Amino acid sequence: MKSTPAGQRNSAIVIGGSMAGLLAARVLSDRYREVTIVERDTFPIGAEQRRGVPQGRHTHGLLAGGCTALEKLFPGIARALVEAGAVTGDVARDCRWFLEGGYLSRPAGGLKGLFVSRPTLEAAVRVRTLALPNVRKRENAIVTSLVISERSERVSGIKVDGEVLAADLVIDATGRGSRTPHWLRNMGYPPPREETVHVDLGYATRFFRRHRLLPLGGQPVVPRPLLVLRQLPFRIDQPLLPQPVQRRVQRPVLHL
Ligand SMILES: Cc1cc2nc3c(=O)[nH]c(=O)nc-3n(C[C@H](O)[C@H](O)[C@H](O)COP(=O)(O)OP(=O)(O)OC[C@H]3O[C@@H](n4cnc5c(N)ncnc54)[C@H](O)[C@@H]3O)c2cc1C
Repeated sequence: MKSTPAGQRNSAIVIGGSMAGLLAARVLSDRYREVTIVERDTFPIGAEQRRGVPQGRHTHGLLAGGCTALEKLFPGIARALVEAGAVTGDVARDCRWFLEGGYLSRPAGGLKGLFVSRPTLEAAVRVRTLALPNVRKRENAIVTSLVISERSERVSGIKVDGEVLAADLVIDATGRGSRTPHWLRNMGYPPPREETVHVDLGYATRFFRRHRLLPLGGQPVVPRPLLVLRQLPFRIDQPLLPQPVQRRVQRPVLHL
């Protein structure tokens, strides 16, 4: 690494401008003179769904740990989201949990969650991160490989659109489709050890117009878990009805 004033490093590149990439850039901005986020997609101006995050159409919520972490990095963000229409509350006291044929009691648990659509959450984080004076974005740019320093001591940059971008630190935040193991293998390095947690769960999500009372009832032929959440602050009359289903069930059926 080049020598720079104490506590200040030169440049960092973050590949991927989704939640992990934006948050990594926010953290790096405290230490690096310049942080560049390189993202394959065009960043939407507002809270819009984009191609690189297909799960963005499904319901999202933040548990208490996520809220606290976000708040530390962007003080006031939870309040701003609530003002914009997100719903917050004690996940034990303010939610109704119906499990195994009965309602759970509702004691105050002290853990606050935040329910908000994924595009809205990501937009709030993106606006704040990109407003930092030393954070730059490069959109519509596909990273095709890492670049190794001359003496093969470290990763010294990336290749993007045929161009080499140098950096003191490169972070891969491209999510589960990360090409880093493949890139490293191609350059003769062993890929990092991977740990896989197999989750046999799929989601089906559907939007419904919210009325004062949302009747849920009936006897489903194949009972499945169901979660009802208000999601869209900009369309507050349309909550989202996500339905986590086991993968072997092909077509979820909603009984309303
Ligand atoms: C159905 C479903 C529901 C979920 N619900 C929740 C929830 O309620 N709460 C919650 O906290 N989490 C939830 N998650 C998990 C959450 O969505 C992911 O953990 C999160 O999106 C991971 O963020 P990420 O930034 O690591 O990766 P991603 O969101 O996958 O983003 C990767 C980014 O990298 C970019 N990219 C990829 N390759 C390149 C390249 N070569 N060059 C440049 N850019 C590139 C992509 O365009 C994208 O922007 C859910 C996930 C799913 C699938």
